[in-house]
Amino acid sequence: MSSTWHILGAGSLGSLWACRLARAGKAVRLILRDPQRLASYQHAGGLTLVEQDLPRHYAIPAETFDTPGPIHRLLVACKAYDAAPAVLRLAPRLVAGAEVVLLQNGLGSQDEVAEQVPHVRCLFASSTEGAFREQDWRVRFAGHGFNWLGDPCNPSVAACFDDLGDAGIPAQWSTDILTRLWRKLALNCAINPLTVLHDCRNGGLLEHLAEVGALCDELSGLLQRCGQPQAAEDLHEEVERVIVATAANYSSMYQDVRHGRRTEIHYLLGHACRAAARHGAPVPRLERLHQRLVDNLTARGLPGA
Ligand code: NAP
Repeated sequence: MSSTWHILGAGSLGSLWACRLARAGKAVRLILRDPQRLASYQHAGGLTLVEQDLPRHYAIPAETFDTPGPIHRLLVACKAYDAAPAVLRLAPRLVAGAEVVLLQNGLGSQDEVAEQVPHVRCLFASSTEGAFREQDWRVRFAGHGFNWLGDPCNPSVAACFDDLGDAGIPAQWSTDILTRLWRKLALNCAINPLTVLHDCRNGGLLEHLAEVGALCDELSGLLQRCGQPQAAEDLHEEVERVIVATAANYSSMYQDVRHGRRTEIHYLLGHACRAAARHGAPVPRLERLHQRLVDNLTARGLPGA
């Protein structure tokens, strides 16, 4: 197996990973969406990663989907709604047993990808690192954090995992990655939609703690029904801790809405509501929240899924 990393999506997290892997001497190639984006990238001459106000340039090679050649290691770093169609286009290039790391927030997109490429090993990731695009091909590393990677179908550590340590990407192999992803999804459902609906920073939810608490009760019940009791443990307490600790921040969903960007609602609150329906679990508050959020997004001209 070749150890070259192909990185699909040179946005915030894709660039952050690509630059760190490249500077550790790993072979990295970016896959860009079309010849126009490739021309724009080539004009810029590479990616710039800004860390602690220090910009550094990385002339990482790039290609498009149509470039021939096998892929053994793929990092999927696009948004959840773009992941499966993008990976499908790469399916003919992915060799049997290739390792595909899925960085998407929420749940649902990982299974959509896995269905498209049953011949590869899909690794699910949960990241608390933060990065944002200052402009095309220039990304700021905004928040140090951690990454968990795991494979719900196979507890053995993936071959690509060692490269992360070499590249200074803080990561741990997780044998309960679904629990982590469910927990993160539940935290997101309890906080992010309400920040959009109440038009506030996370700390603004301190004025709506009864509403938050009622959502946490429903989410805890749902997690139990979905076979994720550990993800439900002390959920309410952690949600309140996060609201206090991040009081001055705007949630990622709030920022997406504010910038007129499509949200990942379908893979967050939408996934929770679909899972509840599948398990026959009544979640009237979550459903009402989902409907209010969809109405709010639609009124702004943004997709409700
Ligand atoms: P982002 O900055 O919007 O980057 C997404 C990238 O994917 C863009 O560069 C986009 O290309 C590219 N892309 C989309 N469709 C493509 C296609 N068909 N072919 C090639 N490239 C394609 O997104 P992000 O913030 O890095 O988020 C990625 C995922 O990580 C999301 O699920 C997010 O929730 C999660 N996450 C992000 C952070 C963070 O701090 N940013 C933290 C934790 C988790 P163009 O440039 O051409 O539009």
